[in-house]
Amino acid sequence: MTGNLQSGCLANWSMETMLDPAKDDLPLMANTCHMLVKHYELDLDVDFKSQVIEGTIVLFFEPGSKSKKGASALEGTCLSQSDETCKIRASEPCHIPVTNVSARSSKTGYNDFAVCAKGEKDTSDKNGNHSNGEQASGISSSKNCCDIENHGSEDFLLVLDCCDLSVLKVEEVDVAAVPGIEKFTRSAKLTDASEELRNLRNQIVHELVTLPADRWREQLYYYTRCSQAPGCGELLFSTGTWSLEIRKAEIKAPREFPHAIRIWYKTKPQGRSVTWTTDQSSRPCVYTVGSPINNRALFPCQEPPVAMSTWQTTVRTPSCFVVLTSGENTAEPAQLQEGLLSWYYYVTMPMPASTFTIAIGSWTEVKKQSCTADIWTNKEFSFLLSKADLRLIGGSCGHVEYPCRFQNPAASSQLVIPHRVFAPLCLRDRCAEIILELIPQCLSAAHATLGTHPFSRLDVLIVPSNFSSLGMASPHIIFLSQSVLTGGSHLCGTRLCHEIAHAWFGLAIGARDWTEEWISEGFATYLEDVFWAVAQQLPHDEAREQQELKALLRWRRLRDEVQNSEEELQVLRPNKENTGELSESGTCTIKHGLNAEKIFMQVHYLKGYFLLRFLARRIGDTTYLEFLRKFVQKFHGQLILSQDFLCMLLEDIPEQKGFVLSVENIIETWLDTSGIPKPLLEESRTWDHCRLVQQVNHEVTKWIQVNQRARKRSKRKRRQDEVAFQKLLPDQLVLLLECLLEEKTTLCLRTLQCLEKTYHLGEQDAEVRHRWCELIIKHKYTTRYAEVETFLREDQAMGVYLYGELMVNEDAKQQELAYKCFAATQTQMDVSSAKVVAEMLL
Ligand SMILES: [Zn+2]
Repeated sequence: MTGNLQSGCLANWSMETMLDPAKDDLPLMANTCHMLVKHYELDLDVDFKSQVIEGTIVLFFEPGSKSKKGASALEGTCLSQSDETCKIRASEPCHIPVTNVSARSSKTGYNDFAVCAKGEKDTSDKNGNHSNGEQASGISSSKNCCDIENHGSEDFLLVLDCCDLSVLKVEEVDVAAVPGIEKFTRSAKLTDASEELRNLRNQIVHELVTLPADRWREQLYYYTRCSQAPGCGELLFSTGTWSLEIRKAEIKAPREFPHAIRIWYKTKPQGRSVTWTTDQSSRPCVYTVGSPINNRALFPCQEPPVAMSTWQTTVRTPSCFVVLTSGENTAEPAQLQEGLLSWYYYVTMPMPASTFTIAIGSWTEVKKQSCTADIWTNKEFSFLLSKADLRLIGGSCGHVEYPCRFQNPAASSQLVIPHRVFAPLCLRDRCAEIILELIPQCLSAAHATLGTHPFSRLDVLIVPSNFSSLGMASPHIIFLSQSVLTGGSHLCGTRLCHEIAHAWFGLAIGARDWTEEWISEGFATYLEDVFWAVAQQLPHDEAREQQELKALLRWRRLRDEVQNSEEELQVLRPNKENTGELSESGTCTIKHGLNAEKIFMQVHYLKGYFLLRFLARRIGDTTYLEFLRKFVQKFHGQLILSQDFLCMLLEDIPEQKGFVLSVENIIETWLDTSGIPKPLLEESRTWDHCRLVQQVNHEVTKWIQVNQRARKRSKRKRRQDEVAFQKLLPDQLVLLLECLLEEKTTLCLRTLQCLEKTYHLGEQDAEVRHRWCELIIKHKYTTRYAEVETFLREDQAMGVYLYGELMVNEDAKQQELAYKCFAATQTQMDVSSAKVVAEMLL
């Protein structure tokens, strides 16, 4: 995962994959060093019949660092410039031994995907500027056409990330035509000369995008007005596999290129950014699935995380639909005409475009039985916003200016942010029972741990059953799989805590290089335990015990995954010392970003988590959490690399600096190497002594004995077994079932029945039921095959691995079950999962 933050849940499963850079690496094509998007204005119509989203997007730009005067062509990356676009860069560079800068030039060609301006020009001229024909990709593996500006005679080419979109028209927007816009032109005079007019328009956009944060309302207002301004000339464009390339005849430099452009486009039903499906109540819906290609099949954008921008979204739908999207306002739909609603959302905090999320369906808002309990009214909400306005200026934040909650005392002291829950109708009651209580508990636990909530409000949506993971976090919206709704609050609570943690790690603090996925997933996994212990109000020792049990479970999973995957995919920082580097124009490729196997791997979650845990043990929990709060204070609203975290940590805690804990050492041991880090190997031996683990071991022994007796007695008259079993926590049950799965002896029918009855296994959460299904399959407990079938249909976020189990026994009945379930779910299944399952079934 890259932009949206997904929490997968698949156990070990190995596939013979050959890593192929041409197929596995994801190119980010946008030339952000030349032009940097600051705001998107989306205006869309959704048609469920044709499964198409159609409309316009207006992009507002600033010239990128490479377009500025005096920008040195020798600079390695645009992030090394000290202009305004670089305020979002992580921090002072840490002095870690890195290889010579010139090492970059020795990289293989594919790492330098770049736009080839040469040869494209002719095609565009021939086709004319109305072409939306899918031409050959502009991607070139040649390093020589990297720097577009250096071609001299060539027109400047704006490159956007774009895939599976039909682009209909691209035009320059005449922002100067907006009434009242004169106030943004204080330094320019309006004349008829075309060049001056062009300068004037760019001047207006510049003034608009650089308005101070306390004028955010005015800024949003004028963004909207400008986006509705008439066009003033169509621009030449062509689309490639991964990009949309736009130019204007005779315009050679980004500075002169239009800073506000409007693109008319349509999505394609098969586009991989959204999925069209039906919800659990069989009503049509469409939503972003957190695909590796992010949002580029939803709107043309600049994918590199450095292009942090704000957005406004207007979506029109038939009135039976609810539109949820990343927006800080709780949109009230406006009726446009009979049966047609318009929904409007905005954000004021700049975020990478990949974090944008949308979900449109006939969702029902889940509310408490008594409406009086709902204390968060819109009035109160806008009161908080207006409070925020008082405190915008100055402050100690390191990010670009925006109305930041960290500087607002009212926001900082808010334990629980306003939130809503949406679900398909048939899941409403289950949701009300499980989630409504949990959200405030988890939110206030998060606040108690990390302080200020970075986002002002939250929507939680139970997504359709084909969603391929347990949860996903985006600004102002969390997706949860229906799999968290069964078997008590444990799985739901921990998952909520995980997604809530992403508000800080993954969203407010993002990875500057997407290959460093551990920064978001490792932190969220680590904090999930911390939040959940606070949410349950566990005493310290109990919390610690539960966390050790969890560590053991994660350790087992990591160990299996390391044994069953390609070494290269086990490295947390696959780009090593080149992490964070961009090409001259700002493009880069995400190593293994499209690799199907990697999508199901959890190594980034697990190794990242273990690293953070390792550091916490060395430093002490209290000091460590204090440090995390400081870290959040410093880096929220910014993008970071691993060393930003490590350097600050080791500087903050000087006594830890030394031979054992150095940044170089940690990076070498934990981030740049495949396999299990040595300190983890050592620590893993200690978890067997944990009380909760020993309790499980004890129970396992009992079950083995029960099984032996049951087998001996199987032909004689059966006596009721008098074994007393301990009550176990859900995580203990998972461990118990895993241990029983590892036993070589066959568990006889009676043992399985007794196991099922003792723990009510059919009613447990999805993690427990997953292991139970494995036991059913392993021991061919045929009368329970229906449970496996239900799991494969209803818990698609977790069930992929079970297909492999069904196939491996070479049992006709089991294989038939696998084929049957796949046939029933295949068309709905997400693309990567379907691909993986199809390969298992072949
Ligand atoms: Zn701030």
